[in-house]
Amino acid sequence: MNAPIPFVVNPDYRFAREWLAALQREMPGERIVPLNELDTAAKAESTFAIVINPLPEDIRQLPRLAWVHSVWAGVERLVTDLADTDLKIVRLVDPQLADTMAEAVLAWTMFLHRDMPLYAAQQREHIWMPLEYTRAQAKTIALLGLGALGEAAARRLLDAGFNVCGWSRTRKTLAGVECFAGESELPAMLAKADILICLLPLTAGTNDLLNAETLGHVPSGASLINFARGPIISDHALRACLDNGHIKHAVLDVFSVEPLPPDAWQWAHPDVTVLPHISAPTDCRTASAIIAQNINRYRETGQIPESVDRARGY
Ligand code: NAP
Repeated sequence: MNAPIPFVVNPDYRFAREWLAALQREMPGERIVPLNELDTAAKAESTFAIVINPLPEDIRQLPRLAWVHSVWAGVERLVTDLADTDLKIVRLVDPQLADTMAEAVLAWTMFLHRDMPLYAAQQREHIWMPLEYTRAQAKTIALLGLGALGEAAARRLLDAGFNVCGWSRTRKTLAGVECFAGESELPAMLAKADILICLLPLTAGTNDLLNAETLGHVPSGASLINFARGPIISDHALRACLDNGHIKHAVLDVFSVEPLPPDAWQWAHPDVTVLPHISAPTDCRTASAIIAQNINRYRETGQIPESVDRARGY
């Protein structure tokens, strides 16, 4: 029988039981055991663990650990917390998650494209005033990040008739998408945006990427959607751009501090839509099936799934 799989969960995380049940359902031949229920011998023999926002000191209880499988797609916190280890970090890559994110991208792009913030404001003032309509084919949506989520979003936006361009670290070839790569091409891509959408991982290279200088390359009157991580955009620079009208509207699903504090300026800004980090919730059933596949392959071949490149940070 295989050694039990440690399940290492932050004590503050509320849905550990649901995850454990879903994971166990997908791996009936395995025993997935919360860390505090493992005896010393079992802890000593584990080479991998399934983790949800684990405390670093809990990870240190597993001396032979070679890799951890996170249930999330974004793993910047693990990368930081495990910086002093050489553990391999495997993140979730789930087509269902990409599909859910593509749906959110389309929904909130349409919200901006069809001027819903303006019509809602007009309704509050009892103003009956049609605004000029511009068709989707005359608008460009610029995607920061063309990874698992960015690529799915690009396809959905193309299907909806928009022009789509995208930016990544290494150059991509995606049918119908104008692809930009690297820092030197960022200004040119930003300059094309009617709506700019952030789907980048948070790393040393993307922290504060959208600041006063880079936001200055976005055409005046463009809108912004951040579905990635809060610190990628400078709050201060964004506020200034919203206050002076350079950015027309921002849809923000992620923030530097979450939950967004009650006194944060974003709540009451007339040109901000605040979402509580809901653009792409992980589906624990599809995610568990993918984690199970990765673990089964490791059991059969000893091959650790593709893991985060620690130098790149994602
Ligand atoms: P991914 O597959 O790793 O793709 C990341 C993309 O960003 C790649 O195209 C990558 O370029 C590009 N990139 C990274 N660093 C860059 C840099 N310095 N300059 C230019 N491009 C850079 O990640 P993913 O699965 O699409 O997920 C992206 C992020 O979405 C996650 O990290 C997470 O933070 C966020 N997320 C948010 C939610 C939510 O509900 N709000 C849900 C899930 C995920 P290359 O292609 O050249 O590598």
